[in-house]
Amino acid sequence: MAMRISSTVTLTRVRLLVMNAALGPLDYRVPDGVRIGPGTVVLAPLGPRQVTGIVWEPERLPATQVPEEKLRPIHAVLDVPPIRPELRRLIEWTADYYCAPLASVARMVISSGGALSGPSTMTEYRLSGGAPERMTPQRERAIGALEGEQGSIRELSGLSDVSEGVLRGLVNQGVLEPVSVDIDRPYTRADADHETPQLNDEQAQVAAELVAAVKAREFAPFLLDGVTGSGKTETYCEGIAQALKDGRQVLVLLPEIALTEAFLARFEARFGAAPVLWHSSLKSTERRRAWRAIASGEAQVVVGARSALFLPYAALGLIVVDEAHEISFKQDDGVRYNARDVAVMRARFEKIPVILASATPALESLHMADTGTYKRLVLASRYGGAQLPTIRTIDLTQEQPGRGYWLAGPLVAGLKTRLERGEQSLLFLNRRGYAPLTLCRHCGYRFQCPNCSAWLVEHRLSARLACHHCGHETKPPEKCPECGEPDCLVACGPGVERIADEVAEILPDARIAVATSDTLNSPEKAAEFVAQAEGGAIDVIVGTQLVTKGFHFPELTLVGVIDADLGLEGGDLRAAERTYQQVAQVAGRAGRGAKPGEVLIQTRHVEAPVIAALAAGDRDAFYEAETDARRHAGAPPFGRWGAIIVSSEDDREAREAANRIGNARPRFDDVMILGPAPAPMALLRGRYRYRLLLNARRTAQLQQVIRDWLSTINHPPGVRVGVDIDPYSFV
Ligand code: ADP
Ligand code: ZN
Repeated sequence: MAMRISSTVTLTRVRLLVMNAALGPLDYRVPDGVRIGPGTVVLAPLGPRQVTGIVWEPERLPATQVPEEKLRPIHAVLDVPPIRPELRRLIEWTADYYCAPLASVARMVISSGGALSGPSTMTEYRLSGGAPERMTPQRERAIGALEGEQGSIRELSGLSDVSEGVLRGLVNQGVLEPVSVDIDRPYTRADADHETPQLNDEQAQVAAELVAAVKAREFAPFLLDGVTGSGKTETYCEGIAQALKDGRQVLVLLPEIALTEAFLARFEARFGAAPVLWHSSLKSTERRRAWRAIASGEAQVVVGARSALFLPYAALGLIVVDEAHEISFKQDDGVRYNARDVAVMRARFEKIPVILASATPALESLHMADTGTYKRLVLASRYGGAQLPTIRTIDLTQEQPGRGYWLAGPLVAGLKTRLERGEQSLLFLNRRGYAPLTLCRHCGYRFQCPNCSAWLVEHRLSARLACHHCGHETKPPEKCPECGEPDCLVACGPGVERIADEVAEILPDARIAVATSDTLNSPEKAAEFVAQAEGGAIDVIVGTQLVTKGFHFPELTLVGVIDADLGLEGGDLRAAERTYQQVAQVAGRAGRGAKPGEVLIQTRHVEAPVIAALAAGDRDAFYEAETDARRHAGAPPFGRWGAIIVSSEDDREAREAANRIGNARPRFDDVMILGPAPAPMALLRGRYRYRLLLNARRTAQLQQVIRDWLSTINHPPGVRVGVDIDPYSFV
């Protein structure tokens, strides 16, 4: 019989990329008879401990000096498929582009410790049908609630609202029986033709292009540019269906907040099976199951937040980035990468198509389409003939609400009319809680977070003052901590809770729902909200950006934007663009059914180009003005930005480190370096922060400049120096 030729060669010495950013590459000896090649995931000794590593092509990592006879042997080869070369190249590219350690990027690939430990089972419990010796109210409740359920003791406790102790008692009595489950049990298979929609001509044309690209198996980046409600999702699902038919995997990246039940239910209706989910709050067993199914090729469609991008897909055939303009694709700590851009690179290494879908694409993406790098596919009209809403501005300098009120006359009138007609309204304000600032009426003391340069936000529903940056919380005190005056706290400015109070005052009969990450903090609550809104049990929704996308409520005919100027005040590079996107997205919620929609935008700057463009519904005018402004400022896509963030728990140490870096600044004609200066968030989570900003021409080797510069300087161990390439947030 002929020997099967394996791509795995027999090596005697290997170089590992180990999952520890503090270490460089390490060399090991391969024990006799062990077959290992680049990509193999192994466990290796490190001092008295062990470390996970990926075998790498030795010539692609810095050399090591250990002589042959001193090498320690690899401890074990782990039972997972080798990391494929396409993904190894992506790891290298990401580390290089974002100035991050290779190990930190590789850890995003090996992102489930459990997945490495081979197949395994876990114990779950279910009712056996037996009865306990003695019935108690608790036991009765458990037995009633757990009919037909199976899960770990903890999950069953959550389901039945009965303590884990009571449930263990039922296990001892044989009322709950153990069942051994394979953690890696297969997922339900998706079916490409389960429920195919009848596409209209425009959709069918776009779908045909996507299907052809999936079949072709070549790198092909698309910008799917379609107005809200035009059927972008329906259309890219045809590309997904083609990949399923070809036995290839699909990754759909969504902003974390759009990972709603509604979206998943839609997927299930189209393909007859839920997609495999990947996000930050998966349980460790779910993570492990998903990771292994992705690596084996069993997972067909993965829907995930940005971190799903680095998973070890066995046979990826298509990547979709939905709502591709969303800033939540940009990670702002650890490896500061933009998942939208890395998705395009991954598609390039994998030689597959990638679809960036959006109704309000980032200027950078439009530029790529205009210059022919991305192919632009347009869906110009709403599906089913629904009209885009009419948009009007309300000039707050003319139509002032009363003191302590935030809704101007025309908006109040609009709300009343909708309530009379039995239609829904949505008020949008991107501020959680009741009021963004609380102060003492007597002495003017302002409640500030002890760990951050930020005011504490009052949350009346939970009776807390909370920091939205670090999570610090306190109860509102009875007396001012500064002057001791009792009952002296005043709320300044509005949050969604306060707007909801105002609506309740104006429309006492209206059924009002506050929709934020505080109130819809679980999939169940989100599903309940959607069911109520769809069923007509809510008249007015007051929400943050959580409600700007994904939802399709046919009876919603009025959208009110409480403060369109809010985003413009931050002073960051993309403020105008973000305002445009947010308002356009929330406007897209209005009039999706048979009845026409109206959008009222409250602003103090009716003349600002972004507001004027919104009011005129003239997207091109906005992008043209913004393009000119960016070109003039040398901002992306015409120039490049980079940031260096220096932080320490000790202010002086941080300042000195920032000055050391500033004093060593290199001089180049094509790179301008600003700072160091205290960051706008000068204190964040207990760390003092300083920033330097770089503005470079497109031709400059920005990353190389930064690497060379920073590598010459040493700092005390308490100092952290972070690099942010293409930063979004200037805090
Ligand atoms: P987008 O992603 O562009 O906002 P969606 O794909 O969510 O648009 O479509 C908007 C609404 O119209 C959804 O309820 C969707 O199910 C419906 N729809 C779009 N295209 C079709 C179609 N060809 N057949 C049936 N329903 C469609
Ligand atoms: Zn804080």
